[in-house]
Amino acid sequence: MKNETNILQDTHGRKHSYLRISLIERCNLRCTYCMPEEGVTLSPKSHLMTYEEIYDIAKTFVKHGVTKIRLTGGEPLVRKDFPVILEKLASLPVELSITSNAVIIDKFTEVLKANGVKSLNISLDSLNPDKFHKITRRNEFNKVYNNILLLVKEGFKVKINAVLMKDFNENEIIDFINFTKDLPVSIRFIEFMPFDGNRWDMSKMVSYAEIMDIVNTHFPTNQVIRLKDAPNDTSKNYKIKGFKGSFAVISSVTNPFCDSCNRLRLTANGQLKNCLFSSSESDLLTTLRAGKNIEPTIHKAVQGKFKIRGGMNTLEEFKKPKLHNNNRSMITIGG
Ligand code: SF4
Repeated sequence: MKNETNILQDTHGRKHSYLRISLIERCNLRCTYCMPEEGVTLSPKSHLMTYEEIYDIAKTFVKHGVTKIRLTGGEPLVRKDFPVILEKLASLPVELSITSNAVIIDKFTEVLKANGVKSLNISLDSLNPDKFHKITRRNEFNKVYNNILLLVKEGFKVKINAVLMKDFNENEIIDFINFTKDLPVSIRFIEFMPFDGNRWDMSKMVSYAEIMDIVNTHFPTNQVIRLKDAPNDTSKNYKIKGFKGSFAVISSVTNPFCDSCNRLRLTANGQLKNCLFSSSESDLLTTLRAGKNIEPTIHKAVQGKFKIRGGMNTLEEFKKPKLHNNNRSMITIGG
């Protein structure tokens, strides 16, 4: 395809420079908002991208302007050839980062450093071991907590993603913020979002406004500093005066940030999702395996991207199950 065609620019003028690649549909935790109770039907191994195919597809995106690649899952570190994938992608001119649940990340700090990974997003929805067990259905709180401290000590830039749910962990908002007093981490409170099998309901979600009400009730207003968000940022960033770390809110439900979206997603079975909430996908893997050029398929997918949340423009539309249920479970998207 002619190079002057920016195949990563959509009809709304957004240039997509950030590719999130889900490496695997498996995980060593069972978070209730991500993995349906009944589990997920895993793709046959032959339908999953090999490390060579991940590299070939990523290389094409980089050729057309992708400058950041995030590796997700499931849990990316449980993929046996994770180090090989990381090393191959590290040969591309991109910023590499990963999203992990940190259960086994202590075994990977050297390979991450060796391949230029500087920033990590860690999922942690509670600072309470019992609640952690309840939401992840696994007893790994201490490992995750200690590994977060290890990552900070090792000099990684750590962001902690906490999905907030009513009557579960919204009463930990202040504890999470106080966690940033002496630790240079960024806590990101995520509005609970609907994905296949997670029994989402608007009433279970803690909104951006509710989170800031709790913050502004607890901390004097002049102590809560609004930070400048980076371009394409998904989060609204704040810090408490004098605290080493910061906190933020990712409000896809009540305050979507689609105007500056630069993200595309590649699933572990080689499907391109032009939006987290898109119900349509484009099959890059079959095209690649047929020895055909994947650029036209990428271009068509990007051209078909809706302005907002996969076409769910208003909150009323977003709340409609028949609209938001045409999606995968979070574990097979990778966030
Ligand atoms: S909802 Fe879709 S368009 Fe909006 S920011 Fe997320 S990925 Fe981008």
